Amino acid sequence: IIVASDVHKHFGSFHALRGVSLTVQPGEVVVVIGPSGSGKSTFIRTLNALDPHDGGSVVVDGIPLQGARNLDAVRREVGMVFQSFNLFPHLSVLENVTLAPTRVRRTNKAEAERRALELLRRVGIEEQAHKFPAQLSGGQQQRVAIARALAMDPKVMLFDEPTSALDPEMIKEVLDVMKDLARGGMTMLVVTHEMGFAREVADRILFFDQGLIVEDTTPEAFYNNPQHERARVFLSKIL
Ligand code: ATP
Ligand code: MG
Repeated sequence: IIVASDVHKHFGSFHALRGVSLTVQPGEVVVVIGPSGSGKSTFIRTLNALDPHDGGSVVVDGIPLQGARNLDAVRREVGMVFQSFNLFPHLSVLENVTLAPTRVRRTNKAEAERRALELLRRVGIEEQAHKFPAQLSGGQQQRVAIARALAMDPKVMLFDEPTSALDPEMIKEVLDVMKDLARGGMTMLVVTHEMGFAREVADRILFFDQGLIVEDTTPEAFYNNPQHERARVFLSKIL
C-alpha cells in the first residue's frame, strides 16, 4: 500500500534522507526507531506529502505523491498523529473530529457527528465530546487526535512519537488504542521508542541512521541480535 523508492530529501545543503526505499503491505504494522536526527520524522512526513521529497518516488495506495495535484487525495488516505496533538483549541472535541469529514469529504453534519461519537467511544472518551482540548489530559487529547485522523477513514495511519509528550500513566491508554487499531488490521507506521508496543504488535522494525534505513527486520531479530553496530549502541542506551 506504500511503495517508497530511493527517496531523498535535502534541507538546504543538508541531506536528510539519502535514498530510503520501503514497501509496506496492507495491514502491516511498522515501527520506526533510530537516533535523534536520523530522518524518522522527515521520512514519515514525506509519506503524506507534508514535506515534499526531492528525489525518488512515493506511491500510496496507487497514488503517486509527485506534484500538487494528488495531495488532497493522499491526505484523505493517510492519517497522521503527532507528538504534540495539534488539536484546534477553539473547537470542541466533537468539532475537531467532524471538521475534516464535513469540509473535505462533504459528509453531512449529522452523519459526521454520529461517526465521531462512535470513534470517540472506540478511543474511550465519548463523554468528553463537548469539552475543549484544554480541558482534557494529554492522553485524552492524543486519543482525540487519533479519532480525528480515523474520521477520514484513512487506509494508512502515521504516528510520530505519539506518546513522547505524555506522562507515564497516560502512555498506556494511548498505546492501548493503537494496539487495538493494529489488531483491527490498520496499516500503521509508528515512530516510537516504546519497546513493549514494538515487541507486541510490530510486524517489522525499521532502524534509521543518518538518513538511511540500516535495518529492516522482525522485532525478535532486532532486539535479540541487531546486525548493525549503530543499532547495538542505540539499543544498549534505551533498554
Ligand atoms: P528525533 O528523534 O529527534 O525526532 P528524527 O529522526 O525525527 O529525530 P528528523 O526530524 O527527521 O529526525 O530530522 C532529520 C534531520 O533533518 C535533522 O538533522 C534535522 O535537523 C534536519 N531537519 C529536519 N527538518 C528540518 C527543516 N525543516 N529544516 C532544516 N533541517 C531540518
Ligand atoms: Mg522526529
